[in-house]
Amino acid sequence: MRFGFVTIVLLIGACQETQVPVGPTPGRPRFDGAAALELVRTQVAFGPRVPGTEGHQLQLDWMVARLRELSPEVAVDTFSHVTASGDSLRLFNVTARFRPEATRRILLLAHWDTRPRSDQAAEIERQSIPVPGANDGASGTAVLLELAGLFAGAAPPMGVDLLFVDGEDYGPGVEDMFLGAQRYASRLDDLPTRPVYGLLLDMVGDAEPNFLVEEYSAQAASVVVQKVWRAAERLGYQDYFPNRVGDRIVDDHMPLIDAGLPTANLIDFVYGPGNRYWHTPEDTPDRLSAATLEMVGEVVTELIYSGG
Ligand SMILES: [Zn+2]
Repeated sequence: MRFGFVTIVLLIGACQETQVPVGPTPGRPRFDGAAALELVRTQVAFGPRVPGTEGHQLQLDWMVARLRELSPEVAVDTFSHVTASGDSLRLFNVTARFRPEATRRILLLAHWDTRPRSDQAAEIERQSIPVPGANDGASGTAVLLELAGLFAGAAPPMGVDLLFVDGEDYGPGVEDMFLGAQRYASRLDDLPTRPVYGLLLDMVGDAEPNFLVEEYSAQAASVVVQKVWRAAERLGYQDYFPNRVGDRIVDDHMPLIDAGLPTANLIDFVYGPGNRYWHTPEDTPDRLSAATLEMVGEVVTELIYSGG
Protein backbone atom coordinates (compact mmCIF):
# COMPACT_ATOMS: atom_id res chain seq x y z
CA MET A 1 0.00 0.00 0.00
CA ARG A 2 1.26 3.41 -0.85
CA PHE A 3 1.27 5.95 1.96
CA GLY A 4 -0.08 8.89 0.01
CA PHE A 5 1.00 12.48 -0.16
CA VAL A 6 -2.14 13.93 1.43
CA THR A 7 -1.98 11.62 4.46
CA ILE A 8 1.58 12.64 5.23
CA VAL A 9 0.88 16.34 5.06
CA LEU A 10 -2.11 15.99 7.38
CA LEU A 11 -0.13 13.88 9.79
CA ILE A 12 2.70 16.36 10.08
CA GLY A 13 0.31 19.32 9.96
CA ALA A 14 -1.70 17.97 12.87
CA CYS A 15 1.38 17.84 15.04
CA GLN A 16 2.16 21.45 14.26
CA GLU A 17 -1.27 22.55 15.42
CA THR A 18 -0.96 20.91 18.80
CA GLN A 19 2.65 21.86 19.35
CA VAL A 20 3.54 25.50 18.93
CA PRO A 21 7.09 25.62 17.58
CA VAL A 22 9.51 26.97 20.13
CA GLY A 23 12.96 28.35 19.50
CA PRO A 24 16.19 26.41 19.34
CA THR A 25 17.27 24.41 22.36
CA PRO A 26 19.31 26.69 24.65
CA GLY A 27 22.87 25.75 25.39
CA ARG A 28 23.37 23.40 22.46
CA PRO A 29 26.71 23.67 20.65
CA ARG A 30 26.90 25.47 17.31
CA PHE A 31 27.75 23.62 14.11
CA ASP A 32 30.39 25.21 11.86
CA GLY A 33 29.58 24.80 8.16
CA ALA A 34 32.89 26.25 6.97
CA ALA A 35 34.76 23.62 8.97
CA ALA A 36 32.54 20.92 7.45
CA LEU A 37 33.26 22.20 3.94
CA GLU A 38 36.96 22.00 4.71
CA LEU A 39 36.46 18.33 5.64
CA VAL A 40 34.75 17.80 2.27
CA ARG A 41 37.78 19.27 0.49
CA THR A 42 40.13 17.06 2.49
CA GLN A 43 38.21 13.94 1.47
CA VAL A 44 38.05 14.87 -2.21
CA ALA A 45 41.81 15.57 -2.15
CA PHE A 46 42.41 11.92 -1.19
CA GLY A 47 41.13 11.01 -4.65
CA PRO A 48 38.10 8.81 -5.35
CA ARG A 49 37.25 6.67 -2.29
CA VAL A 50 36.49 3.58 -4.32
CA PRO A 51 37.02 0.29 -2.47
CA GLY A 52 40.46 -1.11 -3.28
CA THR A 53 42.03 2.24 -4.22
CA GLU A 54 44.63 4.35 -2.48
CA GLY A 55 42.14 7.17 -1.83
CA HIS A 56 39.85 4.72 -0.04
CA GLN A 57 42.66 3.59 2.27
CA LEU A 58 43.86 7.16 2.90
CA GLN A 59 40.38 8.28 3.86
CA LEU A 60 39.85 5.26 6.12
CA ASP A 61 43.09 5.94 8.02
CA TRP A 62 42.31 9.66 8.32
CA MET A 63 38.75 9.12 9.48
CA VAL A 64 39.64 6.50 12.08
CA ALA A 65 42.52 8.59 13.48
CA ARG A 66 40.27 11.64 13.76
CA LEU A 67 37.45 9.73 15.43
CA ARG A 68 39.81 8.06 17.91
CA GLU A 69 40.69 11.52 19.21
CA LEU A 70 37.03 12.34 19.79
CA SER A 71 35.12 9.18 20.70
CA PRO A 72 35.70 6.75 23.58
CA GLU A 73 34.72 3.80 21.39
CA VAL A 74 35.75 3.53 17.74
CA ALA A 75 35.48 0.25 15.86
CA VAL A 76 36.26 -0.85 12.31
CA ASP A 77 34.22 -3.73 10.95
CA THR A 78 36.05 -5.30 7.99
CA PHE A 79 34.06 -7.48 5.63
CA SER A 80 34.13 -8.62 2.04
CA HIS A 81 31.71 -8.77 -0.86
CA VAL A 82 31.92 -10.47 -4.24
CA THR A 83 30.26 -8.35 -6.90
CA ALA A 84 28.00 -9.49 -9.72
CA SER A 85 30.99 -9.26 -12.07
CA GLY A 86 33.17 -11.37 -9.75
CA ASP A 87 35.30 -8.64 -8.15
CA SER A 88 36.12 -9.22 -4.51
CA LEU A 89 35.82 -6.05 -2.42
CA ARG A 90 37.30 -5.43 1.01
CA LEU A 91 35.03 -3.04 2.85
CA PHE A 92 35.13 -1.18 6.14
CA ASN A 93 32.31 0.15 8.29
CA VAL A 94 33.48 2.55 10.98
CA THR A 95 31.50 3.28 14.12
CA ALA A 96 32.18 5.91 16.76
CA ARG A 97 30.00 5.74 19.85
CA PHE A 98 29.32 8.59 22.25
CA ARG A 99 28.10 7.88 25.78
CA PRO A 100 28.49 4.14 25.12
CA GLU A 101 26.86 3.30 28.45
CA ALA A 102 23.57 5.06 27.61
CA THR A 103 20.66 2.71 26.97
CA ARG A 104 18.69 5.09 24.75
CA ARG A 105 20.68 5.54 21.55
CA ILE A 106 20.29 7.25 18.19
CA LEU A 107 22.10 6.18 15.04
CA LEU A 108 23.44 8.77 12.58
CA LEU A 109 24.92 7.39 9.38
CA ALA A 110 26.47 8.41 6.07
CA HIS A 111 28.39 6.58 3.35
CA TRP A 112 32.07 7.39 2.96
CA ASP A 113 32.85 5.53 -0.28
CA THR A 114 32.40 7.01 -3.74
CA ARG A 115 31.10 5.68 -7.04
CA PRO A 116 33.68 4.12 -9.38
CA ARG A 117 32.01 5.42 -12.57
CA SER A 118 30.30 8.65 -13.63
CA ASP A 119 27.43 6.81 -15.25
CA GLN A 120 25.23 9.92 -15.43
CA ALA A 121 27.81 11.98 -17.36
CA ALA A 122 26.35 13.26 -20.63
CA GLU A 123 29.47 12.40 -22.64
CA ILE A 124 30.15 8.66 -22.95
CA GLU A 125 33.93 9.14 -22.78
CA ARG A 126 33.59 10.74 -19.34
CA GLN A 127 31.47 7.96 -17.88
CA SER A 128 34.52 5.89 -16.92
CA ILE A 129 35.81 8.69 -14.65
CA PRO A 130 35.28 7.97 -10.94
CA VAL A 131 32.90 10.40 -9.22
CA PRO A 132 34.81 12.90 -7.03
CA GLY A 133 32.03 12.50 -4.46
CA ALA A 134 32.04 15.94 -2.85
CA ASN A 135 28.30 15.81 -2.27
CA ASP A 136 27.72 12.09 -2.84
CA GLY A 137 29.85 10.70 -0.02
CA ALA A 138 31.98 13.47 1.46
CA SER A 139 29.15 15.82 2.52
CA GLY A 140 27.37 13.44 4.90
CA THR A 141 30.67 12.14 6.19
CA ALA A 142 31.90 15.70 6.85
CA VAL A 143 28.78 16.57 8.83
CA LEU A 144 29.13 13.43 10.96
CA LEU A 145 32.82 14.12 11.58
CA GLU A 146 32.04 17.68 12.67
CA LEU A 147 29.27 16.39 14.94
CA ALA A 148 31.81 14.03 16.53
CA GLY A 149 33.74 17.11 17.62
CA LEU A 150 30.60 18.65 19.13
CA PHE A 151 29.67 15.46 20.99
CA ALA A 152 33.22 15.21 22.36
CA GLY A 153 32.93 18.74 23.77
CA ALA A 154 29.33 18.59 25.06
CA ALA A 155 27.94 15.12 25.84
CA PRO A 156 24.61 14.57 24.07
CA PRO A 157 21.55 13.85 26.25
CA MET A 158 21.40 10.26 24.92
CA GLY A 159 23.84 7.80 23.42
CA VAL A 160 24.77 8.54 19.80
CA ASP A 161 26.29 6.03 17.41
CA LEU A 162 27.96 7.49 14.33
CA LEU A 163 28.17 4.97 11.51
CA PHE A 164 30.27 5.51 8.39
CA VAL A 165 29.21 2.87 5.89
CA ASP A 166 31.30 1.61 3.00
CA GLY A 167 30.17 0.23 -0.36
CA GLU A 168 27.04 2.34 -0.74
CA ASP A 169 27.78 3.45 -4.27
CA TYR A 170 29.86 0.67 -5.86
CA GLY A 171 27.24 -0.57 -8.29
CA PRO A 172 26.48 -0.19 -11.05
CA GLY A 173 23.40 -2.18 -10.02
CA VAL A 174 21.65 -2.28 -6.65
CA GLU A 175 22.98 -5.80 -5.98
CA ASP A 176 26.38 -4.18 -5.43
CA MET A 177 25.19 -1.12 -3.51
CA PHE A 178 24.25 -0.35 0.14
CA LEU A 179 26.76 -3.03 1.17
CA GLY A 180 27.87 -1.46 4.45
CA ALA A 181 24.31 -0.70 5.51
CA GLN A 182 23.32 -4.30 4.77
CA ARG A 183 26.26 -5.51 6.81
CA TYR A 184 25.33 -3.30 9.77
CA ALA A 185 21.66 -4.30 9.50
CA SER A 186 22.59 -7.99 9.55
CA ARG A 187 24.37 -7.49 12.86
CA LEU A 188 21.86 -5.22 14.61
CA ASP A 189 20.87 -7.93 17.06
CA ASP A 190 24.50 -8.37 18.13
CA LEU A 191 24.78 -4.76 19.31
CA PRO A 192 24.97 -4.25 23.08
CA THR A 193 22.17 -1.67 22.74
CA ARG A 194 20.06 -1.30 19.64
CA PRO A 195 19.41 2.32 18.58
CA VAL A 196 15.80 3.51 18.76
CA TYR A 197 15.98 5.04 15.29
CA GLY A 198 18.38 6.05 12.55
CA LEU A 199 18.96 9.17 10.48
CA LEU A 200 20.88 8.91 7.21
CA LEU A 201 22.61 11.93 5.70
CA ASP A 202 23.34 11.72 1.97
CA MET A 203 23.96 14.52 -0.53
CA VAL A 204 23.58 17.24 2.08
CA GLY A 205 25.83 19.96 0.69
CA ASP A 206 24.23 21.33 -2.49
CA ALA A 207 24.60 25.11 -2.73
CA GLU A 208 20.88 25.27 -3.55
CA PRO A 209 19.32 23.21 -0.78
CA ASN A 210 15.84 21.72 -0.91
CA PHE A 211 15.19 18.90 1.54
CA LEU A 212 11.90 17.31 0.66
CA VAL A 213 10.68 14.38 2.74
CA GLU A 214 11.90 11.18 1.07
CA GLU A 215 8.94 8.91 0.47
CA TYR A 216 10.18 5.61 1.95
CA SER A 217 11.19 7.54 5.07
CA ALA A 218 7.70 9.03 5.29
CA GLN A 219 6.23 5.53 5.08
CA ALA A 220 8.55 3.64 7.41
CA ALA A 221 9.98 6.31 9.73
CA SER A 222 7.34 9.04 9.93
CA VAL A 223 8.14 9.77 13.59
CA VAL A 224 11.78 10.39 12.71
CA VAL A 225 10.75 12.59 9.79
CA GLN A 226 8.57 14.67 12.10
CA LYS A 227 11.38 15.13 14.60
CA VAL A 228 13.85 16.26 11.92
CA TRP A 229 11.51 18.59 10.05
CA ARG A 230 10.27 20.10 13.33
CA ALA A 231 13.86 20.75 14.39
CA ALA A 232 14.39 22.52 11.07
CA GLU A 233 11.28 24.60 11.66
CA ARG A 234 12.44 25.64 15.15
CA LEU A 235 15.59 26.98 13.53
CA GLY A 236 13.61 28.89 10.90
CA TYR A 237 14.70 26.67 7.99
CA GLN A 238 11.23 25.70 6.82
CA ASP A 239 11.81 27.22 3.36
CA TYR A 240 14.62 24.71 2.80
CA PHE A 241 12.87 21.83 4.57
CA PRO A 242 9.43 21.98 2.98
CA ASN A 243 6.92 19.75 4.68
CA ARG A 244 6.24 17.82 1.47
CA VAL A 245 6.95 14.32 0.26
CA GLY A 246 9.31 14.17 -2.71
CA ASP A 247 10.97 11.29 -4.55
CA ARG A 248 11.30 7.76 -3.26
CA ILE A 249 15.00 7.04 -3.11
CA VAL A 250 16.51 3.63 -2.50
CA ASP A 251 19.47 4.29 -0.23
CA ASP A 252 21.26 3.06 2.89
CA HIS A 253 18.16 3.52 5.03
CA MET A 254 16.37 0.64 3.29
CA PRO A 255 18.35 -2.29 4.79
CA LEU A 256 17.90 -0.71 8.23
CA ILE A 257 14.16 -0.27 7.74
CA ASP A 258 13.94 -3.88 6.54
CA ALA A 259 15.74 -4.96 9.72
CA GLY A 260 13.13 -3.16 11.83
CA LEU A 261 15.08 0.02 12.61
CA PRO A 262 13.03 3.06 11.51
CA THR A 263 15.47 5.25 9.61
CA ALA A 264 14.87 8.47 7.70
CA ASN A 265 16.95 9.66 4.76
CA LEU A 266 17.84 13.34 4.80
CA ILE A 267 18.77 13.91 1.16
CA ASP A 268 18.54 16.71 -1.39
CA PHE A 269 18.44 14.55 -4.46
CA VAL A 270 18.26 17.36 -7.02
CA TYR A 271 21.91 18.29 -7.25
CA GLY A 272 22.45 21.21 -9.59
CA PRO A 273 20.04 22.27 -12.36
CA GLY A 274 18.22 19.15 -13.59
CA ASN A 275 20.32 17.05 -11.17
CA ARG A 276 23.20 17.47 -13.61
CA TYR A 277 26.05 16.96 -11.10
CA TRP A 278 24.85 13.65 -9.62
CA HIS A 279 27.10 10.67 -10.51
CA THR A 280 29.24 12.83 -12.78
CA PRO A 281 32.78 14.26 -12.65
CA GLU A 282 31.08 17.56 -11.72
CA ASP A 283 30.40 16.42 -8.14
CA THR A 284 33.16 18.69 -6.82
CA PRO A 285 33.50 20.87 -3.68
CA ASP A 286 32.77 24.12 -5.57
CA ARG A 287 29.16 22.93 -6.06
CA LEU A 288 28.70 22.82 -2.30
CA SER A 289 28.16 25.57 0.22
CA ALA A 290 29.22 25.96 3.81
CA ALA A 291 25.78 27.46 4.50
CA THR A 292 23.98 24.29 3.44
CA LEU A 293 26.30 22.05 5.44
CA GLU A 294 25.83 24.35 8.42
CA MET A 295 22.05 24.24 8.11
CA VAL A 296 22.05 20.44 8.03
CA GLY A 297 24.52 20.24 10.90
CA GLU A 298 22.43 22.68 12.92
CA VAL A 299 19.27 20.66 12.32
CA VAL A 300 20.93 17.44 13.51
CA THR A 301 22.46 19.26 16.48
CA GLU A 302 19.04 20.67 17.39
CA LEU A 303 17.49 17.21 16.99
CA ILE A 304 20.03 15.60 19.30
CA TYR A 305 20.33 18.27 22.01
CA SER A 306 16.55 18.78 22.19
CA GLY A 307 16.35 15.16 23.33
CA GLY A 308 16.23 13.30 20.01
ZN1 LIG B 1 25.64 7.95 -5.34
